Amino acid sequence: MTPVLDVRDVGKVYGSGDATVHALRGVSLTVERGDYLAIMGASGSGKSTLMNILGCLDIPSTGSYHVDGTDVGALGDRQLAVLRNRKIGFVFQSFNLIPRMTALANVELPLAYGGVGASARRARALAALDQVGLSDRTHHDPNELSGGQQQRVAVARALVTAPSLLLADEPTGNLDTKSTTDVLRILDRLSDAGRTIVLITHEDDVAGHAKRIIRLIDGRIVEDHRQAPVDGPPPRLASVTP
Ligand code: ADP
Ligand code: MG
Repeated sequence: MTPVLDVRDVGKVYGSGDATVHALRGVSLTVERGDYLAIMGASGSGKSTLMNILGCLDIPSTGSYHVDGTDVGALGDRQLAVLRNRKIGFVFQSFNLIPRMTALANVELPLAYGGVGASARRARALAALDQVGLSDRTHHDPNELSGGQQQRVAVARALVTAPSLLLADEPTGNLDTKSTTDVLRILDRLSDAGRTIVLITHEDDVAGHAKRIIRLIDGRIVEDHRQAPVDGPPPRLASVTP
């Protein structure tokens, strides 16, 4: 099956001459449908650069990147924008909701850009808000919601288009412990339901929710491993029964 993400030997260079920065140096990575990946690494290791490439916000300097089989490097700006709208749901550390627009209107927005009609838009946005437990807040503006609630609206907005990839950059970075738990539970549930998720974080606790962790140092992947689920099935007691 075609992987959702196929990154091959990607390099990213910023600047030129003495100011040249090699932000990514030969990164290769495939992500299959339904995987839940955490990208970790120190500041400056290339996480944001990789996230921008995975999210089709930027293109590699060298190597190739395919989303659902589409070669991103072959697309122009307009086509990239369409691909982003159709295939990728973004969640940012700072929520990035539009002020003075209700939660419902914020969630409808990517569907409006995608040309979905008004009544389908509304129904899908309400269903997405229900998935994040905010059916009772649909007509609140962002400034009437807590940080955790705003981030859940942002998750609903990212989900509403049924994207191939949910891409979250430090989604709990601005949240208190309780809201962090709420948002991570929602991501866990989405993962259980088969969504493909890539999460950038520098917190071990947050990365612990993912199925797979990759670690970047100086623009290179130095580690790529799978981990057992946090809330996996309880250990079977049968083996200790006398
Ligand atoms: P991280 O998100 O892990 O902190 P970044 O991807 O932001 O790392 O940065 C990786 C390297 O690329 C750093 O050395 C950073 O200074 C450099 N860099 C990032 N963006 C740019 C840019 N637009 N122009 C020049 N250098 C950049
Ligand atoms: Mg960064």
